[in-house]
Amino acid sequence: MAPTRRILILGGTGEGNRLAAALVDRPDIAAISSLAGRTAEPVLPPGEVRIGGFGGTEGLAEFLRERSIEALVDATHPFARRISANAAQACARTGIPGAVYSRPPWPQEAGDIWLDAADMEEAAEMASERGGTVLLTIGRQELQPFERARSGRFLVRAIEAPHPLPALPGLQMLLARGPFGLDQERRLLRDEGVTLVVTKNSGGAATHAKLQAARELGIPVVMVRRPAPSGLPVMHGIDELLAWLDHALAP
Ligand code: NAP
Repeated sequence: MAPTRRILILGGTGEGNRLAAALVDRPDIAAISSLAGRTAEPVLPPGEVRIGGFGGTEGLAEFLRERSIEALVDATHPFARRISANAAQACARTGIPGAVYSRPPWPQEAGDIWLDAADMEEAAEMASERGGTVLLTIGRQELQPFERARSGRFLVRAIEAPHPLPALPGLQMLLARGPFGLDQERRLLRDEGVTLVVTKNSGGAATHAKLQAARELGIPVVMVRRPAPSGLPVMHGIDELLAWLDHALAP
C-alpha cells in the first residue's frame, strides 16, 4: 500500500471544511486542518484539527517541517491576508507545494448599484459621507474605520459581538451566522430602512442573498475589493484542487 501523505489545510471556511470532508476517507492522505481560533464555537471540519496561530511565517515553516507536511492548501477566507501571505512565504522557504482554494468573487449583475472600495478605509469614508442607515456585513474585526462617521445609524451583522463595541452612531448588533435566505434579507433591508450595505467581495452562496435583495430594493452596496493574491496558484473548484493535490503528491 502507498504511504500516507500528510497535508495541511489552512481553514476557517466552508471551503476548508469541504476539502477536509473530501479527503477524510482517503487512505493515502492524512489532512490536518488548522483554524485561527477566532470564533468560540467554530464549525469543525472532520479529521485532525489544530487551533491557534503558528507564530508568523517562520512558525508555519517550522510546523510544515516538523509534521512532515508534503503539501499545503490555503483555504482561508479571501480577506485573511496575513495568513495567506505567510502561507506563500512558508511554501517558498520550505519548497513544499502550496495552492489557494477559494470561492470566486461575486460578479456585478445588471441592476446592481455597486460602489467600488479598494479597502475598508475607503468603504468607511463612503459610508460616513452618505449617512443614512448602514448595514455592515464585514465581520467584527474591521469596524474601527467606521468610527469616523458622525451621523447616521449602523447595523452590524456578525457571528459574535466585538469587544469593546465600536463607537458607531446608533449602533445595533445583529448576531447571526449565515447562510441567510432571500426573504430574510429582503425583510431586514426593508424593515430597518437600510439605505446602504457595506460588504467585502467574499463570494459564495451563503451570504449572496443580501446582494439580490439590495438590487431589488435599489439599495447601493459598497463592495470592498479583494486583497492582492498571495502568489500561490488559485483554484476555485474542489475537483481542480483535488487534481492539483494528486499532482503535487505524485512520486
Ligand atoms: P489574518 O489576518 O490573515 O491572520 C492573522 C493571524 O491569525 C495569522 O497571522 C495567523 O497567526 C493566524 N491565523 C489566521 N488564519 C489561521 C489559520 N487558519 N490557522 C492558524 N492560524 C491562523 O486572518 P483573519 O482575517 O483574522 O482571519 C482569521 C481566520 O478566520 C482565518 O482562518 C479565516 O479563514 C477565517 N475567516 C476570516 C474572515 C475574514 O473576513 N477575514 C471571514 C471568515 C473566516 P500566526 O501569524 O501566529 O500564524
